[in-house]
This record gives sequence, C-alpha cells and structure tokens, in this order.
Amino acid sequence: MTEYDILIIGSGAGGGTLAHALASTGKKILIVERGDYLPREKENWDPGEIFLKARYKTEEKWYDKNGEAFKPGMYYHVGGNTKVYGAALLRLRERDFEEIHHHGGISPAWPLKYADFQPYYLEAEKLYHVHGERGVDPTEPPEKSPYFYPALSHEEPLKKFFEGMQAMGHKPFPLPLGLRLNEKHRESAPCIRCDTCDGYPCLVDAKSDAEITCIKPALKHENVTLLRNSKAVRLETDASGREVTGVIVEKEGGEEKLRAKIYVLSCGAINSSVLLLKSANAKHPNGLANSSGLVGRNYMCHINSIVLSLHTSLNLSHYEKTFGLNDFYFGAPDWEYPLGHIQLLGNVKKEMLKGGAPPFTPSALLHGMARHSIGWWISSEDLPDPENRVVLKGNGEIGLHYTKNNQEGHRRLIKKLKQIIRAIEPAIFLSEDMPIGAVAHQVGTCRFGKDPKTSVLDVNCKAHDVENLYVVDGSFFPSSSAVNPGLTIMANALRVADVLHKL
Ligand SMILES: Cc1cc2nc3c(=O)[nH]c(=O)nc-3n(C[C@H](O)[C@H](O)[C@H](O)COP(=O)(O)OP(=O)(O)OC[C@H]3O[C@@H](n4cnc5c(N)ncnc54)[C@H](O)[C@@H]3O)c2cc1C
Repeated sequence: MTEYDILIIGSGAGGGTLAHALASTGKKILIVERGDYLPREKENWDPGEIFLKARYKTEEKWYDKNGEAFKPGMYYHVGGNTKVYGAALLRLRERDFEEIHHHGGISPAWPLKYADFQPYYLEAEKLYHVHGERGVDPTEPPEKSPYFYPALSHEEPLKKFFEGMQAMGHKPFPLPLGLRLNEKHRESAPCIRCDTCDGYPCLVDAKSDAEITCIKPALKHENVTLLRNSKAVRLETDASGREVTGVIVEKEGGEEKLRAKIYVLSCGAINSSVLLLKSANAKHPNGLANSSGLVGRNYMCHINSIVLSLHTSLNLSHYEKTFGLNDFYFGAPDWEYPLGHIQLLGNVKKEMLKGGAPPFTPSALLHGMARHSIGWWISSEDLPDPENRVVLKGNGEIGLHYTKNNQEGHRRLIKKLKQIIRAIEPAIFLSEDMPIGAVAHQVGTCRFGKDPKTSVLDVNCKAHDVENLYVVDGSFFPSSSAVNPGLTIMANALRVADVLHKL
C-alpha cells in the first residue's frame, strides 16, 4: 500500500490552496475528493438549471433541530463550493481578530491577530488574482502593498449608485474580486464580465476557483495525486488514539484504506466535523479529537439577506458585483453595535424570482421585474453558540441545529441600505432572509485556540488530541466576522502550509 506524506481530504478553498502551496516541496501528496470535475457545459450559465433545477448541488438531505429535512446548498466537485462562489475575496478587519461587543452578545477574540495573517492574505490575493483598490474602504485592515490587479469598473446603473453614495458622504469601495481579467496571467479565455457569475460555475474558467487556481497547477507536479469520486467515511487511529493510521474511503468498487504520515481534513466546516464525529472509537468516544466536546459546535454562517431594489429605469449591466459598503460595519451614528457588510449581488434573473412568486406569475412579468432590479447582499455577524451545531443522527445522517442570533444590527443595516438607495433613486424593495439550507458561509465547527479545553485545534490547526491530524478549511474560525470567509480560509491554508512544509 502506498504511504503518502500528506493526505488532504477535500479540494476546495482550504484543501486546494494547501495542496498548491505544498506541491513544489516534493512531498508525496494525495488529495481525496468525494466529487468529480464539474462538467463544462452550456448549462453552467443557464439560470433555470442553476436556480430552479439546482443542477450542480448535492441531492443530500440534512435535518434541522425539529427533524425537518432540507436540502443544503453544497457543491461536491473538484474545487468544492468555490466552483460556484461569487469570488468576493475580502480580508477580515483588524478588529475582527479582537473581542467585539455586539447587541446580541460577544464575538470572541482570535488566538492569533491580523498581523499573523497579513502576509498570507497578500499571498492569497496574488494567487487568486484578486482585483481591488486599497485605501477606499475605511474599515480595511493595514496593508502597504497595492492589489496585484486593478479594481473592476462599475457599469451603469451601478456607477450611478456608487457615485450617489459618495455624494451622500458614504465610502463605497470596489469589491475585491478573484477573477482572471488579465491576458498575461491566464491559460484559458479571460473573464468576459458576464451576467452569470455569482452562484454559477464559470464556463470559460475565468473565475479564480480552487480547481483552476490551485488543483490544476498542483497536478502538474508528479508528486501530487488527485483521487476523485472518493468519499472519506472514517479515520482510524492507533491503540493510543494519538495517531491516525488510515482513512477509509468509499468509492466505486467498495471501500479502501489509505495511509499517510499526516492527514488534513478540508471537507468544509460541516463535513469535516461530520467526519470527526463518525470516527469515534474507544479512545475518542465522542468523536475523534473531541475531548473538548466542541467538534461540530459553534457553527456560524452569517446572518444573510438578499434585498432587491426595483426601479423604473432598466438595469442593462452585464457584470454587476463590483462594489461594497462597510460604513456601518462596526456601528452607526444611531447604533453603537456592529451592523455589518453590504455588497452587490450578481445579476437578478427571472428564475431567481420565480421561487418566491405566487404560482402562475407570468414569466414576462418576472423577466420585466428582473430587468428593473438591482440585487444587494447583506451580511452581518452571527455569534458562536455551542447549541448551533452539527450532529449525527442515529443512522449517520447529518443534523444541523441552528437558531439565528444577533439579528437587530442586521435589520438596521437593511433599513439603512433602503434609505440610501431611495435617496439616490426611487425604489420599491423585495427582501428575503436566508433559510437553514443556505450554508455557503459555514465556519466555526472546530475552532482553533491555545487551550485544549476550549478549542479543537491548536494555533497551527493541528488537533490538540491527535499528533498527525490537521483541519484546514472554514472549521477553525472562532468568530465569523461579517465579510465573506473565502480569502481567510485560503490565507490560513497558506499559513498552515508553512508549518507542514517544515515537518
Ligand atoms: C453560491 C456561493 C457563493 C459564495 N460566494 C462567496 C464569495 O463571493 N466570497 C467568499 O469568500 N465566499 C463565498 N462562498 C463561500 C466559499 O465558497 C466557502 O467559504 C469556501 O469554499 C469554503 O472552503 P472550504 O475549504 O471550507 O470548503 P469547500 O470549498 O466547500 O471544500 C470542501 C471540499 O471537500 C469535499 N468533501 C466534503 N466531504 C468530503 C468527504 N467526506 N470526502 C472527500 N471529500 C469531501 C467537497 O466535495 C469539497 O470539494 C460562496 C459559496 C457559495 C455556495
């Protein structure tokens, strides 16, 4: 049986970035991925296939705290959830690493600080081709180097709103975006600024997802192997329980045991904790690496809403997701607590509106509404709560127990956005908050820390309880902040790669 140096389970933002960073070390690396390559086909850009038929989503059913089944927004492919992400790649704010008082409670301090992540953020921005502009967002953390790629321009009518906000004294900023617009740094066609990006796979491979950015180049190294359609179901340990001795993988033709010196879970925050819980044994009766009892707990996914502003004027823009607003991130003149982050959503399509519309609403009406709409994504911090957790049901199915908290700042943020939009152009609004199945921003289920009693992972993301087991995905976050998690997951993977490189 081949023994690898490092076995990485999962090929998304965490696992893909880690594999890429270690590929040139010559270490023998195996990436185990439950999904296959996401097919490149016309349907990649078909809103009906994406929003009505959920073509690329898993068919799995998970269960909420009342035992109600729901379909999670999970994408099991090489590249993981980044295959469909919006590629808005923001750093956490410097203060996000400290304790912050919210209306709904306390967002705890991280064991490491912004300065520990700063060089890795810079490296991740370069790797993922992030286009942006520093010095415009008043909350952005300190960085001396400019972005490696320039910010995207705003099309009409977004430009009108960007400038309208500026005229009101606000500080909208170009959204940092991981796209391949630069002719010199691409292998495939450059980004064509289409209207099917956030939520869709990229047909021309111009979105910086983990497959295109990391897995594909990593596989050019002969020491890196990718095993697709192979689901890790259990980790085994030696008799002491201190060392993982193998991972059991389900694939066509049955189960196989794979071995390595070091094992890295990068299955995403929910599935990594599921794998640990499923790997319970005599030495780890409550789940592998779970002496703290915290595996699966403190699940966070942001308090997210979509707001559509409907205007009399037409929105003929192609690529819409070009700016954000953080003026109320830490508070507002009339509210001392944090409210959160606003960014443009991708383009609104009639298929997106169909789900919420009464039955038999004419398609032409929905199309007309979509053409007059601008989509806004509103994101506020949810706070870690041990009762918000991943559990295994008796039959091994996944339970996700989640109760929203800290919602007052979010309500106020939506109100502020509506006031700002109305001051620029008359509008009516539709808004929708996200259901439990919207797990896109999942983090926190194996928090890192210095104390084994209050954290699952140490500051290097190694399990406190096991010598050769790491978790490198969204699981390690002690708090969620209010910005998208992707860049922090990628930067952390680069940080851990530096640790593993030396072993
Ligand atoms: C529609 C959408 C839009 C988003 N937009 C943004 C955005 O604009 N900006 C941003 O920062 N974030 C965004 N996100 C979130 C972002 O994609 C995630 O934060 C990020 O991908 C998480 O990285 P990860 O490594 O934790 O997990 P993933 O990237 O999901 O990777 C996990 C991988 O593990 C594999 N896997 C799982 N279980 C197993 C198993 N048992 N065995 C083998 N393999 C397994 C999965 O198939 C997957 O490939 C978005 C997500 C979605 C769904």
